[in-house]
Amino acid sequence: MSGLIEEYNYAGLQCSEKKDFHGAIRWFDKALEGTPSPIILFNLANAYRGMGELQKAIEHYLKSLVYAPQYNLTRNMLLECLAPCRSLHIDGKPNIAELLVKFRDDMGWPDVLENPSSTKEFLHLYAAACRCTPDSVVLDISAGFCRNKDFFLHTQYVSIDLEVASDWNWDFSKLDLIGDALNLPIKKNSIDMILNSSSLEHYPDPFAAFAEFSRVLKPGGFLYLDAPFTHVEHQIPHDYFRFSRYGLNYLCSRYGLAPLSITPDSSYLMGGYRMLFEALSAFKNTDFVKNGLPERGKAAEEAMAYLEAKVKPLFIDIDQDPLLCPEGLSSTITNCTQYPIRYNLVAKKPGEQLPSRRYSSRAALLTEIVECPACHAAQLDWSASQCQCMSCEMIFGRNEYAIPRLVIS
Ligand SMILES: [Zn+2]
Repeated sequence: MSGLIEEYNYAGLQCSEKKDFHGAIRWFDKALEGTPSPIILFNLANAYRGMGELQKAIEHYLKSLVYAPQYNLTRNMLLECLAPCRSLHIDGKPNIAELLVKFRDDMGWPDVLENPSSTKEFLHLYAAACRCTPDSVVLDISAGFCRNKDFFLHTQYVSIDLEVASDWNWDFSKLDLIGDALNLPIKKNSIDMILNSSSLEHYPDPFAAFAEFSRVLKPGGFLYLDAPFTHVEHQIPHDYFRFSRYGLNYLCSRYGLAPLSITPDSSYLMGGYRMLFEALSAFKNTDFVKNGLPERGKAAEEAMAYLEAKVKPLFIDIDQDPLLCPEGLSSTITNCTQYPIRYNLVAKKPGEQLPSRRYSSRAALLTEIVECPACHAAQLDWSASQCQCMSCEMIFGRNEYAIPRLVIS
């Protein structure tokens, strides 16, 4: 910590001691204006806890863990806040404690409190949810099995996917619409928030996808996207590209979106470590074992155990300096030493924000935002079990391309 930041931090601690938590929060916020520091984030979380703001406390404990995942004290304090916070009734807002427990236990991220990449993924989704009001129309593009739906229960959430996942037996039954991200059956300027998670690499034309994001977003609307920079090939053959922060920045600016932040989910060292670990676990689980070479699988397993026990703790110690994990764009070489699994992007469509409105029903909402993907006419006849465009007369059945499927529930 530099001298001035240390002084702010000290002033904050003095206030906390006198139970002047408002004063403490002001000082800690001031100290955090420059480089994020796990210790100051931890102190800030304690101050929020002191004044009974448990949601805020959890959020800042999590932010602290992003930079210092080895701090068990931080984790324990957070866990102490979870139980009382989960029972709080929160109207029209996401409940961080409830979401954190769901994310960890039901959504397949048991390492959310241990692994900075998972913690960042969670905070990225939570930040998106916090931007929304009950009037916001949220479009989750390529939503898959709707993993992220729980973050947006307080909004008007609509999911769409083309249903082509090949690696996993996903349950697509929760989707609102079947449709192509490269030719969305959605009216222009109709969406307050687009969510696009781990999907951009699966589009053969990411430029067309960004053109669509930009078209359907309202002026003043937001895009929350994450896309991989290094990741094993998956969902083959539908795996086409990887994205650097500069590529994402370019995609935004080319289609008139203003990037607000582009954040690596992991730093150089831990990103590299995870790639190595993932490669070894592939050997352990499948190839060698299946091909009658179990002793090689065993060797992979031993190598992984060694890495976890001996190498990982050293890497975490080297990596904990937040300066190694800078956010945003920079042309200097030190900031280019990045090796994340993915980048989290937040972008905004410029312009004055159009008012949102709450629709009387789900059917009313979908009727309002859906249009024909073939001719872009807005008049669709939903009355039959199939849906027909009243302009080009295209009929949308489940086995054709770009099919809006209306699910009224
Ligand atoms: Zn049409």
